[in-house]
Amino acid sequence: MSLTTEFTTTDGYKLTLNTGLFINNEFIEGSSTIETVNPSTGQVITAVQAAGEKEVDLAVEAAHKAYYGGWKTSNPRERARLMNKLADLVDRDMDELAHIETLDNGKPLTDAKSFDVPGLAAQLRYFAGCTDKVHGKVIETQGKLSYTIHEPIGVCGGIIPWNFPLAMLSWKIAPALAMSNTVVIKTSELTPLSALRFASLVVEAGFPPGVINIITGYGHITGDLLARHNRVSKIAFTGSTAVGRLIMKAAAETNLKKVTLELGGKSPNIIFDDVENLDEAVFWSRLGIYMNAGQVCCAGSRIYVQEGIYDQFIEKFKALAASGTVGNPYDEKTIQGPQISERQFDRVMGYIETGKSEGATCLLGGNRVGDAGYFIEPTIFTDVTPKMKIMQEEIFGPVVAISKFKDVDDVIEMAHDTDYGLAAAVFTSSLKRAITVSNRLEAGTVWVNCYNQISENTPFGGYKQSGNGRENSVYALDNYTQIKAVKINIGL
Ligand code: NAD
Ligand code: MG
Repeated sequence: MSLTTEFTTTDGYKLTLNTGLFINNEFIEGSSTIETVNPSTGQVITAVQAAGEKEVDLAVEAAHKAYYGGWKTSNPRERARLMNKLADLVDRDMDELAHIETLDNGKPLTDAKSFDVPGLAAQLRYFAGCTDKVHGKVIETQGKLSYTIHEPIGVCGGIIPWNFPLAMLSWKIAPALAMSNTVVIKTSELTPLSALRFASLVVEAGFPPGVINIITGYGHITGDLLARHNRVSKIAFTGSTAVGRLIMKAAAETNLKKVTLELGGKSPNIIFDDVENLDEAVFWSRLGIYMNAGQVCCAGSRIYVQEGIYDQFIEKFKALAASGTVGNPYDEKTIQGPQISERQFDRVMGYIETGKSEGATCLLGGNRVGDAGYFIEPTIFTDVTPKMKIMQEEIFGPVVAISKFKDVDDVIEMAHDTDYGLAAAVFTSSLKRAITVSNRLEAGTVWVNCYNQISENTPFGGYKQSGNGRENSVYALDNYTQIKAVKINIGL
């Protein structure tokens, strides 16, 4: 059976891809297949192999063998060389990787080229630089000398979502490899393609077989098998809070593997009336909610505007939101593509209906765009109250709720009225206010006078039910190492 498929993107780019499961540096057949859809058209692109119990076992065994067969004790310089080589290959094939990402996910090609694919290369290079910078401590105790070693964990599973397929892959792979772990990644069944192209680069870079394995399949089958596998020592998950709970449960019911979770959010974006440049605040706020069609875990989906500038903000924000081109993601003018699937489209439209029936005002949008694909107009709700569903639940679409506030205490109380705590933003020209409000906010990231600024050298993760553990930066290394204490009797 041929596992190679060819297709052409809507802008005429011809692609050839291996659609097998990537295990032991080979593409193999799965136990079933899954069709992946182009969300811009609703048409099937191709079918990929999906992993059942047998293939999940094969992938984990391959990673286990590679770990004990040399990767665990590999030279940091060699790991760094391979990771840097892989990053160079990603740069070389940037165009093709970006086209695949846009085809399978629907995100604007300009975003795939400026954020997703460069982000993948940057993660690999940043963590390549960490391979030789892991240091323990020396602790003097009475009559004994103690020192600590940061050791790898073993086989690390990564379960990733569909909103940033390559970026999420890199957030899981790069720190794990740098710390001498081997990996089995389960990609989202909605966006398996770009990771398969990446897999071919893993072979070309020269990674030993089994160090990086990439499989796909449905979450409740393949994801669950990986989360329950007794030879997987750690799972890193990004996705919904509901599935995050299931991952913890799976770990609890099996080998108590270590779990890190990067979950949803309902992030507050706070605009004070002393903001230096209202147009800039409007620009960032628009990016904060409509980037990636609102399918961003840290999206600024609740905007709070201080009374004095509320009307002005609304007028400018509405005008800017209405001006963005929604449609063909290969078109350079496009700033918003489709939702990922019909299911997500229906879910977001359902929230829009709920907002209306709960009595909020739909100031802009609320409708489908075009008659093919899953496009939704940039949507704004005003006259919202704190307990409305659209103020409490993660919509994961181009829908924002805007409300007014009086003072700092008032807005902090509203900002905290959620189970989430992933991110927040503050717009103000007062340094004192920026710092005091940032310090008070219960969120893993606070942006001041900007939004959605994420980089490989800065930690990212959630407070409250937005998750645990941090990704990106040296903080991420803690999740991929375990500490051993050695105590030596020096006879004093
Ligand atoms: P999801 O959480 O179901 O999927 C994320 C990943 O988890 C996918 O790879 C999926 O196959 C896997 N998965 C699903 N069920 C699993 C299980 N029982 N065991 C192991 N793995 C499993 O997300 P979704 O259903 O695609 O989207 C639903 C909502 O999740 C969205 O509307 C949004 O609110 C949220 N979401 C958040 C993020 C984020 O970045 N935080 C990303 C995607 C989705
Ligand atoms: Mg798809």
